[in-house]
Amino acid sequence: MKITANNPNRKSWLDVNKNSDFPIQNIPFGVFLTRDDITTIGTRIGDYAIDLAALHQLGYFEGIPLTDDIFMQDTLNDFITDGRMTWRLVRNRIADIFDETNPKLRDQEKHRDTVIFEMDQVEMLLPVQIGDYTDFYSSKDHAMNVGSMFRDPENALFPNWLHLPVGYHGRASSIVVSGTKVRRPVGQTMPSGAESPVFGPSKLLDFEVEMAFITTDANKLGKSIPLSDTRDYIFGMVLMNDWSARDLQKWEYVPLGPFLGKSFATTISPWIVTLDALEPFKTKGPDQVPAPLPYLAEEGDSSYDIQIETSIKPKKEEETLVSVTNFKNLYWSISQQLAHQTVNGCNVRTGDLYGSGTISGKDKKSFGSMLELTWAGKNPVKMNDGTERKFIQNGDTVIMRGFCQNNEVRIGFGECKGKVKKAYAP
Ligand code: CA
Repeated sequence: MKITANNPNRKSWLDVNKNSDFPIQNIPFGVFLTRDDITTIGTRIGDYAIDLAALHQLGYFEGIPLTDDIFMQDTLNDFITDGRMTWRLVRNRIADIFDETNPKLRDQEKHRDTVIFEMDQVEMLLPVQIGDYTDFYSSKDHAMNVGSMFRDPENALFPNWLHLPVGYHGRASSIVVSGTKVRRPVGQTMPSGAESPVFGPSKLLDFEVEMAFITTDANKLGKSIPLSDTRDYIFGMVLMNDWSARDLQKWEYVPLGPFLGKSFATTISPWIVTLDALEPFKTKGPDQVPAPLPYLAEEGDSSYDIQIETSIKPKKEEETLVSVTNFKNLYWSISQQLAHQTVNGCNVRTGDLYGSGTISGKDKKSFGSMLELTWAGKNPVKMNDGTERKFIQNGDTVIMRGFCQNNEVRIGFGECKGKVKKAYAP
């Protein structure tokens, strides 16, 4: 079925600023609370939030097989379970309803008042109930940087790294939506030179610039998903900040990997941008040498050209841009990640979240964490207010923004932000 929603020539009768992340070609999905305290599934065009439950009730999705309450939910899980054909039909229909040439809703003031909200009148909620959360480690530049810092530059990558997308199982319960404040964690650390660990607030709080994809139900337990089928089961992507306490992480991570240094908070952006909307921005990923094993072999454009900008905004001060990176820098693709995740027969479920791992590029401005940007605190970042940062301070807000742009259209993710609050007294 054709993705008619992506037609770059289409214009909406709703006002959309030309630099908006949310033109009529985007049509992401999210969950929000209205001014009347009603939770609904919605989409966004320009600076308007659109209540899909209300649209459905008014008959605008007639002809599409949807249950009556499919959008009257506090998560997208049931809609995601309906599968790719339904996502596509709904996106195409929304594009049609808001097309400038279609008078049906445009000229029906009563309906418009029920369906359309200004963005500042709604509160965005976590879009999915996340059962399982995997975090990969798929940026070669990031793995090289971290490996060089903590081990040695000659052997920065472990022998498995070029053969499989390394990952670990993260904590789903502490994934929060953009705007949620993040509490500085307390825990054990081993300061260099100390003989025994100390307990207290993390001193090395960091962000990790990532993107994450969300799946639908796919394989039965025991069956794997062949790489060629993986994208049928991926609903869409969000921006993700995988907050990390480097001092906790350093002391605890051997031999089983990250634990409390990561599980205190992970922030995601509220609008899930579908793979369909990202289709025009597919691009080649990096060359893979040595060639991966056959179950991970992938042909053609495997990545997406998504620019991600990260700023730090100190309390009451303007923000400073600290990192500009791109999703296409990732060595392992989302298809390879999902094929690898399930090759052992592990089943994936609706609402599962898969982080890319920190996205770093080659040049210093494109590093995706303070650990790399300041090279473990040796080269502090200069802020516009005259202060310096080695890591993130209390009162700082970390803001990530991501978008794709070509000559015809801009498809963006909006913001993924979180403000750091001081630790609870231990
Ligand atoms: Ca991570």
